[in-house]
Amino acid sequence: MYQYPNEIGRFGEFGGKFVPETLMQPLEQIEKAFKEIKNDPVFEAEYKKLLFDYSGRPTALTFADQVTNHLGGAKIYLKREDLNHTGSHKINNALGQALLAKKMGKTKIIAETGAGQHGVAAATVAAKFGFPCTVFMGEEDVARQSLNVFRMKLLGAEVVPVTSGNGTLKDATNEAIRYWVQHCEDHFYMIGSVVGPHPYPYIVREFQRIIGDEAKEQLRGIEGNLPDKVVACVGGGSNAIGIFQAFLAENVDLIGAEAAGKGIDTSLHAATISKGTKGVIHGSLTYLIQDQFGQIIEPYSISAGLDYPGIGPEHAYLHQSGRVKYESVTDDEAVAALRLLSEKEGILPAIESAHALAKAFEMAKEMDREQSILVCLSGRGDKDVNTLMQVLEDEVNAHV
Ligand SMILES: *Cc1c(COP(=O)(O)O)cnc(C)c1O
Repeated sequence: MYQYPNEIGRFGEFGGKFVPETLMQPLEQIEKAFKEIKNDPVFEAEYKKLLFDYSGRPTALTFADQVTNHLGGAKIYLKREDLNHTGSHKINNALGQALLAKKMGKTKIIAETGAGQHGVAAATVAAKFGFPCTVFMGEEDVARQSLNVFRMKLLGAEVVPVTSGNGTLKDATNEAIRYWVQHCEDHFYMIGSVVGPHPYPYIVREFQRIIGDEAKEQLRGIEGNLPDKVVACVGGGSNAIGIFQAFLAENVDLIGAEAAGKGIDTSLHAATISKGTKGVIHGSLTYLIQDQFGQIIEPYSISAGLDYPGIGPEHAYLHQSGRVKYESVTDDEAVAALRLLSEKEGILPAIESAHALAKAFEMAKEMDREQSILVCLSGRGDKDVNTLMQVLEDEVNAHV
């Protein structure tokens, strides 16, 4: 039933390829190459070897017993994508696309980045594969995320500040696509989430589905059955699609947590499903936050990885069909969940992942001990310590 996308890259009405004619052929070549390698055991073995020997998979499944006892409800299990090399799930996709680029005979990598997480993953795999790498990043983000900019440079990548628009992720993506149109002969465009024109949402999903496949097996080993609910945070939606994929055909509740920022009734949020409307962004028909003229409204969230104004087209479809419920979580709720996990489990999660945790903790209290919730812990919080210090320094110091 969930064998999406169809042959023209649609998930229901969503997705597709809304791109200039010059990009149709390069996209078709990528699709063709991906279909060839997808069922090729040699590619599969190479990909798995990189995931295991280089990135450290399989990642652990951790029973959060202290938090579970504290909340007094359903058992909470964490899929530990924070334990991956470079600290999040993004490397799963970056390694897969690098291997695809190599198979296609491409010699250079370009990527877009917002906070710099995908940029770092792209720069990392480019170094490993010996590809020169150019990362497009909005100038506003370059200023805000100087540590990640320097990190990418240490890894040998060139970072190009983008001055158009507001100088954020949307503009960086536009610029990356523009550059790619002119250089697609030898450049491979590595997209960081399940967004963009077909076949990207499909390819990225396939490279992230290992999260759910592994977690399902691991939980079966511990609990002997499926979780009652699976929760993941949603920016573009790649970690969520990756963990949901294994459970779509099962009788399991799936919940996506999007960023409500200061609240969905304010203008400062990134709640694409709750507050968005249908439109085209970066070559794909989906929900996005836009004004009455179709201009993108700049999203806001305390977590730099969730403030994308669109959402992957498969999520748009899963929302419309009702298979997945999307709920929003505010900055404050996410930070509270982050603190609880840190204090009770000794795990400092990324603020993005803390959005999923907040939803899971809230639901766990209403459930009983026989039930379980699987949460995708998409990344580690080391990158967020500066941000957290700005909001919490006085409060945390007062306690110690
Ligand atoms: C980038 C990022 C996200 C958001 O991206 P998705 O494509 O929605 O998964 C979530 N968590 C972490 C740790 C990230 O780095």
